[in-house]
Amino acid sequence: MSSQSAGKPIADILVIDDTPENLALLSQMLTERGYKVRSVTKGSTGLRGAIAVPPDLILLDVKMPQMNGYEVCQKLKADKRTRDIPVIFISALGDVLDKVKAFQVGGVDYITKPFQVEEVLARLQTHLTICKLQKQLQTQNDKLQQEIKERSAAEEKFAKAFRSCPNPIAIATIAEGRFLDVNSSFLSMTHYTQAEILGHTIAEIDLESANATYAQIVKQSQEKGFVHNQEFQFRTKYGEIKTVLLSVELIELAGIPCTLSIMNDITEHKRLENEFISLVSHELRTPMTSMMGALDLLGSGQLGTLTEQGQQVLNIGIKNTERLIRLVNEILDLERMKSGKITMQQVEYDIIKLLAHAIETMQPMAEKAQINLSLEITTPEPINLYIDPDRILQTLTNLLSNAIKFSEPNQTIYIKADKQLDWLQILVQDSGRGIPPNKLQTIFDRFQQVDASDSRQKGGTGLGLAICKHIIEQHNGKIWVESTVGQGSTFYIHLPLKSVNS
Ligand code: ADP
Repeated sequence: MSSQSAGKPIADILVIDDTPENLALLSQMLTERGYKVRSVTKGSTGLRGAIAVPPDLILLDVKMPQMNGYEVCQKLKADKRTRDIPVIFISALGDVLDKVKAFQVGGVDYITKPFQVEEVLARLQTHLTICKLQKQLQTQNDKLQQEIKERSAAEEKFAKAFRSCPNPIAIATIAEGRFLDVNSSFLSMTHYTQAEILGHTIAEIDLESANATYAQIVKQSQEKGFVHNQEFQFRTKYGEIKTVLLSVELIELAGIPCTLSIMNDITEHKRLENEFISLVSHELRTPMTSMMGALDLLGSGQLGTLTEQGQQVLNIGIKNTERLIRLVNEILDLERMKSGKITMQQVEYDIIKLLAHAIETMQPMAEKAQINLSLEITTPEPINLYIDPDRILQTLTNLLSNAIKFSEPNQTIYIKADKQLDWLQILVQDSGRGIPPNKLQTIFDRFQQVDASDSRQKGGTGLGLAICKHIIEQHNGKIWVESTVGQGSTFYIHLPLKSVNS
């Protein structure tokens, strides 16, 4: 007896044969090997049984009265419920088996009587395996077809959104920034035609600076997986500067890592905002200057002596008016620089001299706050750079003033200058309160402060770093900050050495 007979049968076999001896023989042979066998003597009964409970395989006698094996097989193959069941024909040695017909009506094989046990089992096993594999293949095929259907539906949805989206969208390779696809909104914003864009890189089409910013944005999106609403500027085909809020997602297109960039054109919005700010600032400057004059006159005592309390109130008035004037001046300064109304007056200048000058300027403020300023320079000889000395001095004093404002008494601020490959690195390092990681980038934007109370408490405007950034970028340099909350901040400036020393 087979060990299988007690457990789950290997397979369910239906035997249709009008000779009871044959049935008994096959039934015994197969049951002993662990198969479940159902035997019937008539074709019509076999058909009904196959429909009611489809077996895994049918052994079918060719020669039977009423309905012969070929007819039974034809009927089985015509019914979708039984069509896939493999049918093996049985024929007696003396019978004439029409092999061609057997295959034509859908049989997969035939065996002849008297049965060779091993042969019957081998053929049975082969066809059961083939059938099982076919079923698996079919299931996988169905699954794949379903996935393809779902994918094409998703792709169609994306393609429709891509084409009809009012926001400019572009797909470019990460490696080179080569445009693979852009939508019509992108073309109308940039004024390029599809042929002028597709297949070309951002560097080929755009300004170098836009390319560098884009590279930074790509780096950020690789680190975070995405970038949302980052301000980005580039030049259109006709040289017009556009400001967009850029969101980048990383995708794969035909196996190539790409960026999907969605833009929101805020050029007009920015222009109106800037126009409004500079208009308001202009209008404010004159009355504020005269207000300051009036307050100074009051303070001078020429119009009578003030009581101590009156003097205190006047001092508050003077302090706040000074702050307002500083704010208005800085707004106008930044707007003029951005609109190109102020250009850098670059000359050859010793940066070491300038650093000493910056420290000298800030020394009184540092002393008042009981802070030490320490200058460290790695090279003894002058370092001549091609710079606008007034603007670089403005940058350095702003960094020093911030470092003093955000340090505690008795702390030291280090100013270091160090020649590196192609640039000079200047750093201003404090051990003050530090800047949280999520503010490290934004504090260089206009009116961005770590704490909303910073401007009130420390007398700042939130514009200093935006101005510094603009000045350094106008010198083809870089400015950034590294910081740990509670331990201090280090502001870095890189200025190119090349222009003078090469
Ligand atoms: P503000 O006039 O407010 O100083 P800035 O643009 O110069 O304007 O600086 C923006 C903000 O960045 C500051 O208000 C402060 O919140 C933060 N900040 C700048 N420098 C430092 C520093 N050295 N340590 C801690 N926070 C700083």
